[in-house]
Amino acid sequence: MRKAATGTVYIVGAGPGDPELITIKAMRRIQLADVILYDRLASEELLGYARSDAKLVYCGKAPGSHAMPQQLINQTLVDFALEGKNVVRLKGGDPFVFGRGAEEALELASLGIPYEIVPGITSAIGAAAAAGIPVTHREYAASFACVTGSRCHGDKSPIRWDLLAHSVDTLAVYMGVSQLPSIREELLKHGKAASTPVALIERGTTSSQRTIIGTLADIHTLAVSFKLSNPALIIIGEVVRVRDRLLHAEQQAVALIG
Ligand code: SAH
Repeated sequence: MRKAATGTVYIVGAGPGDPELITIKAMRRIQLADVILYDRLASEELLGYARSDAKLVYCGKAPGSHAMPQQLINQTLVDFALEGKNVVRLKGGDPFVFGRGAEEALELASLGIPYEIVPGITSAIGAAAAAGIPVTHREYAASFACVTGSRCHGDKSPIRWDLLAHSVDTLAVYMGVSQLPSIREELLKHGKAASTPVALIERGTTSSQRTIIGTLADIHTLAVSFKLSNPALIIIGEVVRVRDRLLHAEQQAVALIG
């Protein structure tokens, strides 16, 4: 029997949560895929656009159990591609922003398996916008950084909170919920004002989005009392102050249309 030609792997960003925020290109890849390996953060609604005979493989962490190890995900992508299948690897946000998409692409590249990266709206951009927070603003912020909060103490390459506290105007911290006290402590230690505004955006862009506003001084207390849960982003910086004005303007616009 003739060996099937190698399939292509599409490493696709699903966008920040709202299924409508996916790109047209990503949607086309989903509609054509033979196999879809998807994460917890990729909206399940998007799977409804898959072919009815597509094989759907869940790779995320189910409550109380382990996530599929990265090595096994890589191997599964390789195996399906070598069977001649077109595979979509569907990830929340953008595949290259804290998404391990590069690890998967490198594995495929090392074996000569064709792949394509389809970028997505990363959750910091999507969630901030949906919460009425511009990550840059001519009066408040000329720079922003996406930072992981999950590497704090004792890591080989710790995050340079000392530099971030001074050199970047808006900080968008991913995976930071459980590290909120130490992130706050680091920023205060390195001279960030306790009055710096902070927003916590939970399940950004989805119908159950929640936004909690505070300052570096009180944000941890607020997170505990509102029982903040994952996925959530921490946005730190003066731009958070624009929110009230923007939301007010948005409400007026809706009232005019309505
Ligand atoms: N590749 C993804 C990030 C994966 S890391 C992207 O580009 O968005 C996972 C972290 O992303 C979560 O811990 C959380 O901090 C953030 N996140 C993802 N989706 C989110 C959402 N809808 N609302 C708030 N934070 C989100």
